[in-house]
Amino acid sequence: GDEIRADMVDGLARKHFPMCMRNMQECLVRDRHLKHFGRLQYGLFLKVLGLSIDEAIAFWKKSLSTIADDRFNKEYRYNIRHSYGLEGKRANYPAKSCQQILTSDKPGVGDCHGCPYRHFSPENLQTGLLAVYSSQGLTANDLHEVMRTVKEGHYHVACTRVFEITHASRGVKKGEGIGGGDSVVHPNQYAARSIELEK
Ligand code: SF4
Repeated sequence: GDEIRADMVDGLARKHFPMCMRNMQECLVRDRHLKHFGRLQYGLFLKVLGLSIDEAIAFWKKSLSTIADDRFNKEYRYNIRHSYGLEGKRANYPAKSCQQILTSDKPGVGDCHGCPYRHFSPENLQTGLLAVYSSQGLTANDLHEVMRTVKEGHYHVACTRVFEITHASRGVKKGEGIGGGDSVVHPNQYAARSIELEK
């Protein structure tokens, strides 16, 4: 995508990110910290979204303000550069798909990564969805349908429905998904489509 700057991330999150990445941004702002799998899942998402290596280092340095400078420079900077393929075996790591997020590295207590539709309790999911998306048109009434889908285990369908509801003001109708009736299969596809709809 287009290049994004570190100081744009919070604003983009509020308008365009799926629940998994919204949750990660909220955790980061709240705790000034994110555990390893969270930094990995969110960092790769932001890379694919268009955050350059310099902007990524600036973003994480500012966000992880509980980490002392020398520790940041020794450990975190290396890990960020590694995920950009600039250290170690120099692999260009892709961002995780919904399928990977749903099935690997199950989050434990205090973790912020994972898929909220799958990994949150029903109560926390409903509270979280309303807190995050009510300003974009999600109402308590919509939650019945979303939670029924979650209960059936169709997490990406629930995420797709939330996309439709929160983009109704952009002309998205029920059943259209993220375009052409497609369901969400990747967090970056969700964010990219949301940004595209705003243009
Ligand atoms: Fe994120 Fe995919 Fe879950 Fe949506 S379905 S919250 S994009 S992991």
